[in-house]
Amino acid sequence: MNEEILEPIVNEDESNLLNNDEHTSLYSGKKFHTLEECENFLDKWSKQQGFHLIKDRVTREAGVVRRRTLICAHSRTYEPHSTKDTTTKKLNCPFFVNISYPKSRNPNGFVFVNKINEHHNHPLNQAMIEFEDRKKFTPEMMDDIKFMTIHCKFGATSQRKFLEGKFPLHPIYSKDLYAAINKFRPTSKSLSNDAAQISNWLDLKKEMDSIWIVIRGWDNDNTLTYLFWMTPSQVENWTRYSDCVINDVTHKTN
Ligand SMILES: [Zn+2]
Repeated sequence: MNEEILEPIVNEDESNLLNNDEHTSLYSGKKFHTLEECENFLDKWSKQQGFHLIKDRVTREAGVVRRRTLICAHSRTYEPHSTKDTTTKKLNCPFFVNISYPKSRNPNGFVFVNKINEHHNHPLNQAMIEFEDRKKFTPEMMDDIKFMTIHCKFGATSQRKFLEGKFPLHPIYSKDLYAAINKFRPTSKSLSNDAAQISNWLDLKKEMDSIWIVIRGWDNDNTLTYLFWMTPSQVENWTRYSDCVINDVTHKTN
């Protein structure tokens, strides 16, 4: 993965020979005016193909991104094996794109697509990506959810009624609504210190490894009433022996 093509200068004639639509195709040597333009293209392109790209390694020089690797989101997805295999495994999808912003021999300051590994070890799902995009709350909806959560202290049921009335054409899924509400619920400022620290620490763990399960509950005064979590190994055990549950209940006992 380190043998990047450092001079991916493709002349115009050569790129035309690829007989692809310049605006939609990805190929080694493709150039962009800015890193942002390149990343936006790759984001759109990957969704059209049916997968999500995520940022991986980056090389910065004096704060400037000179190289970046983008990988398929499935290279970090865990697949719990509930049968004989006792370990949780990454799907390890091999897809990657390397992009570079060479300092030398790049008078126009272009950002280049270098090496691409186009292979995935899983099916691509364009419909799923489109579906995710379609059900994503709009900025206006997020503003409403924020207002209803912080100022009105509305729960999910009331918020759902409001949103369904105001945005009748937008699909609303409970899981997405809970997640959006949780974003605006009180965090470290209103929680006691210990609970806030545990809560933040759990969020961090979940961010690094999505297999963590973190569930919180609030009462009508936005007081945290429960905090439940499962480590990846607990999740795995749970999927294998689902009848074994250990609860450590300390709420209002000390
Ligand atoms: Zn993949």
